[in-house]
This record gives sequence, C-alpha cells and structure tokens, in this order.
Amino acid sequence: MVAPYRRQPQVQTGPIGERMIALVEKYYPYANEIYVSSAMDGPHGNVSHHYGNLHYAGSPTAAIDFGAYDDPSEDNDTKDQWDMGLLADWLWYHFPDLTVELIHTQPHNNHLTYVRDQERCGPYAEADHVNHIHWATSAALMDRIEARARDAWGAGLPLTLNSSGVQWTGTSHLLDLSSHQVGIDLAAVRDAGFTLANIKTTQGNWYTWDRAREYTDRARALGFGLMTYHWLDNSASGREQADIAYRGMLEIGGPAGMGHQCDCEDIDSPATFEIWRDYVNAMQDRLGRPIINYTGDWWWVPKGWTGGHLTPYLWAAPNNGYLDGYPGDSSPDWHAGYGGWGDYAALQYSVGPVEGAGSIKVSKTAIRDASVWAALTGEGDDMTPGQDYRLRVLMANWDPTRDEWIRAGGSPASYDDAEASGGARNGLKQALSSLELQIAELHGKLETMEAERMGRRVNR
Ligand SMILES: [Zn+2]
Repeated sequence: MVAPYRRQPQVQTGPIGERMIALVEKYYPYANEIYVSSAMDGPHGNVSHHYGNLHYAGSPTAAIDFGAYDDPSEDNDTKDQWDMGLLADWLWYHFPDLTVELIHTQPHNNHLTYVRDQERCGPYAEADHVNHIHWATSAALMDRIEARARDAWGAGLPLTLNSSGVQWTGTSHLLDLSSHQVGIDLAAVRDAGFTLANIKTTQGNWYTWDRAREYTDRARALGFGLMTYHWLDNSASGREQADIAYRGMLEIGGPAGMGHQCDCEDIDSPATFEIWRDYVNAMQDRLGRPIINYTGDWWWVPKGWTGGHLTPYLWAAPNNGYLDGYPGDSSPDWHAGYGGWGDYAALQYSVGPVEGAGSIKVSKTAIRDASVWAALTGEGDDMTPGQDYRLRVLMANWDPTRDEWIRAGGSPASYDDAEASGGARNGLKQALSSLELQIAELHGKLETMEAERMGRRVNR
C-alpha cells in the first residue's frame, strides 16, 4: 500500500498546480515522505506565482509548496529536512531548465537548491525557505516536464539510473577478468548489462597477473564496480597468501571500495582447511569486512568442511552445473545447502561469450541482493536514501574548489592528483565512480523494495 499523498486541508489548487502535484506523486520515489503545504491558498506576498495570475514567457504559471515536518522521532527536524532536501534535489537535478522558480535552503548539509528562469542560481528569495520547498513553473514548461518524465521513467515509479544509464533492479551481473579475457571489449560487456568486474590478481605464492592493473583501470573507467580474487592453493600458508592477495589489491588501487573473493577450487594442489581458514580470517581482518568464498559443491562437499561461520557469503556454479543464461532471482539454482551455507550469495550461472562482445568466453555471475555487494565492498553501510541520492547528485554536478573538496572530507592529495591528471572535476568524478556505482546498487535495492511494497513486479 502506498501512503496517501497528502495535502494540508486548506490547500487550493488550479489545473497547472494539479499537474505539478501529480508529477511528483507519480514519479518521485519518496512522495509519501512529503506533503503539499500550500498552492493558491495562503499569503505569499504581493506578487507570486502562487496566485495563478502571472505568466512566464506567455504561459500561465503556478507554484506549489512542499513540506515534510511530520516525523515523530527525536530528531524529527533532521529527518524531515532530509526528506525536503531530497525532493528539492530531485527537482533541481532533473528539471532545472524547465523550472521558473525553485527555492530551498538546506542548512543541515550546506546545500542550496535554487533555480530561477530555467537556470540554476544562488539564493534570491527574501525568506530562506528552510521549512518548505517552493517550486513554480508554467503550463508550457509543464508539458515538457511531463514528456521528460515519461521518456525517463515510463508509466510508473522511476528506476534509479547509474552514470552509464543502466537501469538497476536488485540484481546485478558480474564477469571475471583474468589472462583468459585479454582483449575483451569491456564497453560492449557493460552495454550487455554487466556492471561488476572480479579481477584475478594472484595465485598461490607463484603467480601474479601482470595485466591486472591495466584491466582494472579499464573497468573502472567504464564505471564497473570492482573486486579481486586470489586462487588459493597449498603453496604457502593462509596468512602468507593473504598478504600476497592484499598486496595485489593495493597494486590495482584498492582495497577501498573493492570486494574480495577467495577462489578455493584447486585440484592439483588443493588448500587444506587450515590454509583456507587462516586465509579467510587474515583477509577479513585486513579488510575489516567479509570476503566471499568461491568453490563448487563438487569440490567442497567431499571435504566435509564447514565455512559458513567464517563468511556468510558463498559463490559457485549451480549444483546441477552451468546454465544457458540467468535463471532468475527465485530459481532453485540459488540453493547451495552445504558447508554451513543455505543459498549462494553470488551465482556463477554461465560461462560463455557475452552477446555483442566478441567470442571471448567469460564467467558470468549474478548477485541478486545488493546488500551482499555493499558488505563485500564496505561502502554505503550507513547511508540513508537521502544521503545516497544526494551523493549521486553531488557527483553528477559538483565542481568543487580545493577548499570545498577538503571541507567535504576529501583528501588534499586526491584533489591534487585529480588536478594534475587533467582537471579536478573529471578526475574526482572518476575517482568516485565506483563508489557511485555501489550507491546506485543500494538505491536499486531500495527501489525494488519500494516497487514490491506497491505490488509491482520488477523485471530484469
Ligand atoms: Zn511558495
């Protein structure tokens, strides 16, 4: 059930105002967190778009005020200001060029969302509009706003778009990258719907993939979320191999924001349980977050080992073998049922070429629960929907000075590096792109939950 979209009892609207309200109700993902506080009613000074007697570029205008002060929690102001800021950001981000006036100040995060005459601008209103959002547009601009919303989101709630325009549901797809994939067209792979890459760095104490950095950089530049894997064998202790794998992550720009897989499937010189246990413990200690174990029921079950108490995350091919394609989120192929694990956290459903990306075979994996990726990469754990949305808006639009960057918590070194490599804006955005991707995943999960709550079916 959707909470009813609310209006204060005294609110009076005209036809343009109704369209503005309907747009927010239909497309804004968190419409149930806000309400209409005023439209044509109430005092709004001598001259205002609220009254329905003004024109903009020859077209009649309307103004709507939105509020959010209704959350009965201890820090209700904070929550409600987030709620308002989120809607202000949404309007500011998607429709600035089709807005006559957008006025909202967000002191809690030092953020201003002002638009005047179809352009983003600094503060211009006398009142600072902390406690509501004022939004005005014209009938002619509203035609274009509605058309843009339909183009972007169709008939219903918007799905979150990541920076490459890929639509996110809860499930994302990953490919492995190792020496077997040299020469692959990663852009085509991404266009085919893969958004995560798992890069082989090392094997035992005797092998390092010498092109791991190069392929990581390529994947990163294309916006892939990143993780690494180490092939575990019995060439060294678990601790020694963890040191090697950790250095491998450092050498390709990690471990911040990167997940890690222990690839435990060697036949010729298999790891012992002690090696596996020590490896998992050492990596998790170093990373401060869980890693995921890769194996196969054919490998693990005969050993009789229990591993689910060390990491909750297991990854393998389906117990019945590879499939032609992804079997869906509710397929029984997700069931593992050994080693202390129930379902797989990541399912390697196929090995084969990616459609449209040449003949090179890749291992294809689905992660149906975005919280798995969030846990493995250590990103976004404490992020509210408001923070996550705001961060994405920030990344898409922010062009910080060095001082602003440092005030926002960025390191001076990363700014200087970005500046040296051709401009802070692009450099910083690139540095943040994998974080943005992970946030988009979390957001996708929220969207899925939202859609489920509304009784809609989310299809991949
Ligand atoms: Zn107003």
